[in-house]
Amino acid sequence: MARGRFPACRDKGPGGNASSSLAGLFRRTRVWKGEGLAPGKSRQIPRPSPIADLGFLLIPLLDKFGRQITDLRVSVTDRCNFRCVYCRSADPDNHMPHAELLEWDEFERLVRILVGMGIRKVRVTGGEPLVRPGVENFIARLKALGVHDLSMTTNGYLLADRCKGLIAAGLDRINISLDSLDRAKFERVTRTTTFDDVMAGIDAAHSSQLRPVKVNAVLVRGLNDDEVEAFAAFARERDLIMRFIEFMPLDADRAWRRDLMVPAAEVHRRISARWPLVPVPHERSETARKYKFEDGRGEIGLIAPVTQPFCGHCSRIRLTADGKLRTCLFSKDDHDLKFLLRGGASDAEIAGEIRAVVEEKEKGHRINEPDFHPPSRTMVFIGG
Ligand code: SAM
Repeated sequence: MARGRFPACRDKGPGGNASSSLAGLFRRTRVWKGEGLAPGKSRQIPRPSPIADLGFLLIPLLDKFGRQITDLRVSVTDRCNFRCVYCRSADPDNHMPHAELLEWDEFERLVRILVGMGIRKVRVTGGEPLVRPGVENFIARLKALGVHDLSMTTNGYLLADRCKGLIAAGLDRINISLDSLDRAKFERVTRTTTFDDVMAGIDAAHSSQLRPVKVNAVLVRGLNDDEVEAFAAFARERDLIMRFIEFMPLDADRAWRRDLMVPAAEVHRRISARWPLVPVPHERSETARKYKFEDGRGEIGLIAPVTQPFCGHCSRIRLTADGKLRTCLFSKDDHDLKFLLRGGASDAEIAGEIRAVVEEKEKGHRINEPDFHPPSRTMVFIGG
């Protein structure tokens, strides 16, 4: 069933759906003659709710379970210069045509509307956000909208050269992915030879004013789970935050199996056996459980979406590079905001539809339910 009152579409695999069947998807619609349509042609767009007409700025964005949505992840491209084995396929051409992606102005408009509805944190991601030209300017535009907490997730390859520009644009903090400290293994995982560049990117971020700098590793059994202690030592030596993420069923090759996922409890047990850990308080909606080392520098974060789901306090929604709103990484439905943007809908109309979709946000991701099926869009097309 469609969830929002505007085009909701079953996601249709790697490139997402280029076109969606719109018929029958609106609960309440009006006929509208929009820009860009041939004379005499009309399409249906959803009718705004009275609330949206009255002023979408005044009411927090809540779902039906009472969770307030304050965090937005914006995927600015599905392209990536890495082809991590646990994330995307080896095919370098497996990405959407550029014309399907939102333009910067369109992203900015949606973020402006969402900031008006209470979004305070925005993370720019992808694909690899640094491969899309103009991302620094986009960061500056987001900052000017009054985003309180502006961050980016990157593979770090292009970061050393771009770090200063990102900071000048207003970036507050950064997450860098690093799945192995072993050069040969790193190259196998990413299918690149960029280890030195990524380490230079981490160094550049660490010696900059970006704070905090978080380094993220997805642990996959038999691939890099032997490096748990080495990653912890890395956090201690460099005085940075090293986060361990459980492998989720979002990989392009559909190779995920539960036994390939390394539970956060195991990571905690192994690290604390070597270096006693002290819990650090965290906000309820934070994904990571955080620990300091009792004897010194560095921090670790454990992100356990599979073994300790944190859906009950989820405050996140996601905007895909092609303008779809997703209320969960594992959503079965996409909600097409590009259609509204390009159809000439007003800000209030778009806000009304966002509110309706958010209200129906999933209670949880259901990975651990017997009838779980992974979404057909994988991580790289959703935005991590
Ligand atoms: N290119 C950027 C990067 O490498 O960080 C941003 C996009 S990437 C999809 C975002 C994050 O998702 C990375 O930390 C990546 O390791 C993580 N990721 C990708 N596939 C995953 C999966 N199946 N399970 C858990 N995390 C995953």
